[in-house]
This record gives sequence, structure tokens and C-alpha cells, in this order.
Amino acid sequence: MKQLFPDTPITDLQTVRPSIAQRLHKLGIRLAKDLLYHWPTRYEDFSKITTISRLSPNTRVTVKGKIDAIQNRRSWKRRLNITEAILSDDTGSVKIIWFNQAYLAKTFSPGDKIIIAGKIELDQYGLHFTNPLYEKLSRQPVHTSRLIPIYPSTAGLTQRHIRYLIQLVRPLAGRLGDYLSPGLRQQAGVFDLPFALEEIHFPQNAQRLKNAQERLKFEELFPIQVYTLQNRRQQQLAAAPTIPFAEATTKKFVSSLPYTLTDAQRKAAWEIVHDLGKAHPMNRLVEGDVGSGKTVVVSLAVLNTAESGYQSVIMAPTELLAEQHFHTFTKLFQSNKIKVGLLTRNYKRLSYQTGNTVKKKVLEETKTGKVDLLIGTHALIQEAVSFHNLGLAVVDEQHRFGVEHRKLLTAKARASQDKALEPHFLSLTATPIPRTLALGLYGDLDISIIDEMPKGRQPIKTKIVDAPQRKDAYLFCAKQMKAGRQIFVICPLIDPSDKLGVRSVKEEHAKLQKVFKSFKVGLLHGRQSSAERERTMRAFLSKAVQMLVSTSVIEVGIDVPNATVMMIEGADRFGLAQLHQFRGRVGRGQYQSYCFLLTDSEGDGVRQRLQAVAASQNGFELAEKDLEMRGPGELYGLRQSGFPQFKIAKLTDLPVIKKAQTLAKSVLASDPDLALHPKINERMRQFRDAIHWE
Ligand code: ADP
Ligand code: MG
Repeated sequence: MKQLFPDTPITDLQTVRPSIAQRLHKLGIRLAKDLLYHWPTRYEDFSKITTISRLSPNTRVTVKGKIDAIQNRRSWKRRLNITEAILSDDTGSVKIIWFNQAYLAKTFSPGDKIIIAGKIELDQYGLHFTNPLYEKLSRQPVHTSRLIPIYPSTAGLTQRHIRYLIQLVRPLAGRLGDYLSPGLRQQAGVFDLPFALEEIHFPQNAQRLKNAQERLKFEELFPIQVYTLQNRRQQQLAAAPTIPFAEATTKKFVSSLPYTLTDAQRKAAWEIVHDLGKAHPMNRLVEGDVGSGKTVVVSLAVLNTAESGYQSVIMAPTELLAEQHFHTFTKLFQSNKIKVGLLTRNYKRLSYQTGNTVKKKVLEETKTGKVDLLIGTHALIQEAVSFHNLGLAVVDEQHRFGVEHRKLLTAKARASQDKALEPHFLSLTATPIPRTLALGLYGDLDISIIDEMPKGRQPIKTKIVDAPQRKDAYLFCAKQMKAGRQIFVICPLIDPSDKLGVRSVKEEHAKLQKVFKSFKVGLLHGRQSSAERERTMRAFLSKAVQMLVSTSVIEVGIDVPNATVMMIEGADRFGLAQLHQFRGRVGRGQYQSYCFLLTDSEGDGVRQRLQAVAASQNGFELAEKDLEMRGPGELYGLRQSGFPQFKIAKLTDLPVIKKAQTLAKSVLASDPDLALHPKINERMRQFRDAIHWE
């Protein structure tokens, strides 16, 4: 083979045929060094070597020995190829059985010294190994005699093959170097990168593995810390319009609302207004459960911004939601002189003009400053719009501003009258991320939490529905629809799957159309065009469709006050916080609402988890429970939500997050532009590129 470099393409490695290369590409592995960054998800402990006389059933062990005999036979009844071998050492002999690996009878011959690792079983064959891991005796065992790493893989790529390839590139670990100097490593209390990359694949013992894991977690968390701290500094250097608190107007507005604000709403509003008064841009995230009333809090920020003569913009994730906001804000501001504009691909409106106006007019009046608040989707606001003097930008139902949004809006603000000023930023989310986690990860973000629901909300009656009760649930739905109400049905999958018991939206839609013949049943999923989804949602909003069968794409934040039942199929497949968010689609109007959790799974803990949803109406509480019950792996369904994806770090690794934060702060304090730390700077350049392409 040619000489091996970190950037050697994997196709140059032994045994990597094009089909294997393709599978490796699927795992994101293109270069030799990528293999070193392909980290195990767990380990099997085969480090303990035992003598044959001391084997006992149901233990996982490694045995060294000599093959006495090996042969294939065919089991016609079970259509299997069986390889049987006898392995012996000084203390005795033991039987090995491999299924469908007939080549092993050619790989090994009697007299060969081998090592095998696996579970010892006892049945009618006596004491034996079934399908153990194996390798010829050597100085550096890869597949046995150690903590055996189990890697993320894909169809057609064996663990054995991955381990083989990683063994090939193993010498590179020492050559990759470390961008943290020994001094900085010592300061942070982390091991060096070559050590970590070696030990994560070939751990010598549990302690060294732990140290390696910690360094690699650090590896994922440190750049985020540097990044957010640098952002924070930029924000503090940037100038934003100072928007003083318009006390009288605000009080008058609040007292004109048809309800009193909750304490949590007041506190969030106060924090925002306080930020607006500062001379550098706000960067604040408002977290609040579905229905906790984030919109009116935003309206207070918009009101104050308009009072100072600045414009605001609200970006919504979908056209429909943008439209809904347009109506809400138009109504909220009807007795103030605040002019609202709507700009989406299909709808252009102005609150102060009846009838449809043309796109040009909305754009024009935004540019001249006549429009005080422009509402639209991300796409349209990014493109054509220019503002007169943008003071506040709000993104709804998103965890955090995309870096790109911020850049675009800053550019827009710069192009407006006040060239030196950047707008204040506010983002809104219904995903409950505990404050400690969010702050640990995003030092550049301030957080307001609305953890209180408006008074007088009727709790949504939540019930677990087992198979025998399904009929009753359907009867109940029919009754609700007859009374004029509407129903959501959520399914986990789009297409039917061979996985038993998991319901797909397409099957379910077909079935429910038959069950509820006298009603219209709509279908909504992520592979439809956005126009098609839009049409269906409109039909549902106008009540032309009574029952809507949907995947989890069902829009966040959409308000259908007439919907009273949320039926969730395969409820065990969703996180608790996610179930809670689905449930939040109903109970928005005057009618008592219901949530049915359906499951065909009888797995351990399923009931207990669903029971938790039935028992609590609090998203934060459920998120914490999720964490407790399922561990941080699937935490909060954050996967889709723009949170960084880690291979090894967890959102709950607070000690490592802390370490990374402390080191980042210390480095940046004396060297804010990383001019004295070129290697870290280079790492940050890679990091930014990676986010950019996300
Ligand atoms: P979300 O936080 O999910 O965006 P919304 O802002 O859409 O919630 O508010 C949900 C509903 O609650 C709206 O109809 C709104 O008018 C109403 N609402 C908001 N605040 C209060 C309150 N303090 N008391 C009663 N109703 C409220
Ligand atoms: Mg909302």
C-alpha cells in the first residue's frame, strides 16, 4: 500500500472496494483520518481471559487455545450452515458453534492457535460458544481480549471490517497533533488528542477510556464555547438603537387587553424591554410552553420599538403561521397607530388598507418606513425586503437564530437609514430546554422562560387508549365531529413499514376514511409539496376537513380553536415533551379538549412514560422526566431543532461543558481574536465552515 496520510482517501486502503467505500461515505467517512473520528457508541468487555476449566454459563469471556478439530455441516431442517470446532487449552476443551460462516472451516485448520470472545451458553450441546468473535493469536489482538468497541454502522458493513480499517489507520492518531498546547491542556485538565484518539478505539482499561471520552467530549464542546463567546463580544461591540421604555403607552396597551398578563409574561416582557433600552443588540430566547402566550409578549416589544420610531420584523416558519400572526397583531394593534404588513409568497397585505394590495406596495411602504411591523416567512424576508430603520427582529418557533439570519438582517439594517446600528434580536420557542443546559451551551444568549399558563385554561383530558378501547375512541371522535368539532390524528411514519405495529400516516388515512365515511379526512406529511400542505391546512382551518391525519410535521404554533381531539398513534415512539407539544394543538378554544395516546407496544416502561404525560400539563416537567426515563440520548427531540449534533458529548455533560467554557473564557480574555493561538483559530475556522454547511 501507498504511504498513509491523514488525508489519504479511504478508497486507497486495503479491502475498501467501491461498494464498501460507498457504505463508509454514508457514515461520513471519506478520508483516513475520518476513521479515527468514527467513535464507538459502546464497548463489550472481553478483556478478561479465562481458562477453559473455569468457564461458566452466561458469562462473556475471552479464551485462548488451539483448534483440535473444525468442520462444516448442514442443518436441512433449519436451513443453516453450521461450523463446529473444538478448542482446547492446558485445562480442557470447549465447543464452538458458528452459524452461516462456512468460510471459517477454511480460515482455520486444526493446530491453529486462536482467541475467541463471546458468551458461554449451556444447552443440549453442552457448554459452548455461539458465534463468538475470533482472531488468530497475535501480539495485538483487535477483535478479542480487550474492551471491544461497537461502532455506528450501516447495512453491509460489519463491525469486524470497521475494526480492521481502524486498526489500519491507528498509527495516524499520534501524527494528528493537538491544537491545545500542553499548558492549556493542563489548565483545562484534559488529556491530549492523540491519546484520546488512540484510547477511544483501543482502550487499555476503563479509566483510560473515560479520560479519552472526556477529551473527545471537550473536543465537541470547546469550539461552541469559543464561538458563542466571540459572538457575545461582537454583540457587545455592536451598536443598536436605544429604545426607551414607553411606560404610559405600554400600560394603556396592557390594560386594554381582554385578559391580565401572567406574572411569567410580565417578567419576560420586562426583561425584553430592559434589553431594548441598551445601546447594544439584545440576543434573547423566549421559551414558553405551547399556549403560554408568547405572542402578546412580543407585541409589547414591537409596541415599544414603534414608539421610538423603529420598525420590527417577525419571521414565521410557515406561510400559514405568518398569516395567523398578521391577523393577531392587526387586531392587537387596532387602537394603536401601528401599521402591520404581511409578506409571504402568496399573500401580501397591509393592515391599514382593505383589499389585496400588490407586493410592490408592501415592499415600498416597508422601505419608506410606513410599515411599522412586517410579518413574513424566513425566505421572503431574506430576499427582497429593505427596511427604513429596522430596530427589532423576531423569529418565531425556532430555538435560536441561524447565524445566516442574523447576518442577513444585520446587513438589511445596515442598508437602512441608520447605517451603524444593528437590530435587537428575539427568538421564540416552545421546546423546553432547561436553563442550565441552554446557558451552558450558548453563552451568547439570554433566556426568558414563561413557565406559567394563563389562568382559567381547561386542562386537556389525556387518556391512554389500549387496543380494546380503540373502538370507543373512534365512537367518541364521531360524536365530536357530529357536534361540529375537529380532530387531529398523528402517526409516526409516512409509509407502511415492516416493523410490526408501527402505524403509517398513509395506511391510517386510508383506514380512517373508511371508518368515518360521512366526514372528510385530510392527509398531511413532509413529503408533500408545501403548496399541498398549505391547501390541506386551509381546508382544515375552514372546517371543510374534519379530521386531519398527519405526521409530526403538523405545524407548530398553528391555532385551530375548533379542534378538540388529538389522537396520537404509536405514542410510545415520541418523546414526552413532543407528545406534550402535539397535545398543545388542541384546547385552544372554548371547548373541553382531549388527547388520546394510542400504543400497540407493551414494552417495559411504555405505560409509565405515557402515564406521565397524562398526569402532567407542564412541558418543562415532562422534559425533565424524559431525561430521567430515557436518558439524554433522545433528549427533547432536539435532533430536528437546530441544536448541535454531538457524537459523544451529551447535553447533560455539565462538568465538561463547564471545563470547555472556563478554558474558552480564559483564552479569549487575553487574546480575543485568537491571534496568539493560531491552531485554535484554525480549528474555529473549520468549525464555522461546518456550521455554515449544516
Ligand atoms: P404561544 O406561546 O403558543 O405562541 P399564543 O401567544 O398563541 O401562545 O397564546 C395562546 C392563546 O392564549 C392566545 O389565544 C392568546 O390570546 C391567549 N393568551 C395569551 N396570554 C393570555 C393571558 N394572560 N390570559 C389569557 N389568555 C391569554
Ligand atoms: Mg406561538
